[in-house]
Amino acid sequence: MSERISLAKCATYEAEELLSSLRQALVQIGGMSSFVKPGQKVLLKVNMLGAYHPDKAVTTHPEFVRAVIKLVKEAGGIPSVGDSPGFANPKKAAEVCGYLKVCDEENVPFVYFDQQKTIQSLNGRRFNIAQAVLDADVIINLPKFKTHELTGITCAVKNMFGCIPGILKAEYHVKVPTRADFNLMLLDLLEVVRPTLNIVDAVMGMEGVGGPHSGKPKQIGLIAASKDAEAVDRVLLEAVKKTDFEFIKLLPEMKIPKIIRAILLEKPVVDKKKCTGCKICGQVCKSEAISYHSKYPKFNYNKCIRCFCCAEMCPEHAIEVRRNWLAKVVFSLARAH
Ligand code: SF4
Ligand code: SF4
Repeated sequence: MSERISLAKCATYEAEELLSSLRQALVQIGGMSSFVKPGQKVLLKVNMLGAYHPDKAVTTHPEFVRAVIKLVKEAGGIPSVGDSPGFANPKKAAEVCGYLKVCDEENVPFVYFDQQKTIQSLNGRRFNIAQAVLDADVIINLPKFKTHELTGITCAVKNMFGCIPGILKAEYHVKVPTRADFNLMLLDLLEVVRPTLNIVDAVMGMEGVGGPHSGKPKQIGLIAASKDAEAVDRVLLEAVKKTDFEFIKLLPEMKIPKIIRAILLEKPVVDKKKCTGCKICGQVCKSEAISYHSKYPKFNYNKCIRCFCCAEMCPEHAIEVRRNWLAKVVFSLARAH
C-alpha cells in the first residue's frame, strides 16, 4: 500500500493550504504515521543547492519544510532538517534559503553534513555518505521539481545525491562522466541511502534551460508523495508533461567519435560581464578542464566531461551552458525522427 504514489494540488505556500494538501497526499499512502513512529529521529533532506532566496524556486521552499516538520511532530517523530550544497557556505545557504528561520521557530535543528562515512553498494561502488543521513531512523526526501542540464530533470532520485557532502559530489561526475552512467550511479546511491518517504515540492518548480539553478520559476501546483523515489519521479514527470512546462531538450546518448562529440555536446561558456574572477569554477572542476586567461576561466573542451558543476557552483551565474548551431541542427533532426 505504501508504494503507491499520490498527487495533490497545492497552488501556494500558504500554511493552511500546504498542510491541507500534504495531508491529502499522505492519507492516500497511509498517512505520516505509517512512515514515522513515536520517538524516531527523522531527517528532512531538503534540496539546498546554494544560497538562493525561496522565490528563485531553486531550493525546497521553507514553508513546505515547516509544514512537513509539523506533520512529523504530529506523528511523534523528532525532526531535523539538513543538506549540503556542493560549494556554497552551508550556513549562509541555510540562512538565505530560509531554513534557519523555520528551524528556529519550530525548535528543530538544522544539521550540516560535515562528517561522513564510506559505504559500499551491493555492486561495489563506494560512496561517502553524510553521517547525519546514516544516523537518522527515517529519511524524508523533500526534493524540488526542476530541469537539470545533466539529467533532464532533478527530483526525488537526484536529490539524494546531496547526501554526499559538499565538494565530494564533484568527484562523482569525473568517475561517471556520461549521462547514462551518472543515472546508474544515482540508482546505486539510492540502494545505499533509500529514503523512507519522498514528498516532492512541485508547487513552484523550475523550467527551461539553466536548471537546476538559473532556469525560470514555474507554477506547477502539485505535491507528490511516495515511498518509492523512482516511481514518484516517473509519475510526476508524466503529470507535468501534460502541462506547458518547458523541459530541456537533451542530446540523445550517441556512440560517436570524441571530436564530433566535443562539437555536438553542450558546453560551459563564461559571460565575462558577470565573472568576477573568483576562480571557484577552477576549484570545483575535478577534470582540470579550467585554466585562467587574465581573470576569466578558459575551458579545455577535450578534458571537459560536461558535468556542469562549474555552472552550478559559480556564485555570479557567469557560466552558461550553450550548444553551437551545428549541434542545434543535428539535435532538431534527431528529435524529428
Ligand atoms: S566564472 Fe564564476 S566561478 Fe568562475 S571565476 Fe568567474 S565568477 Fe568565479
Ligand atoms: S569545465 Fe565545468 S562542465 Fe567541464 S568538467 Fe569542469 S566543471 Fe564540469
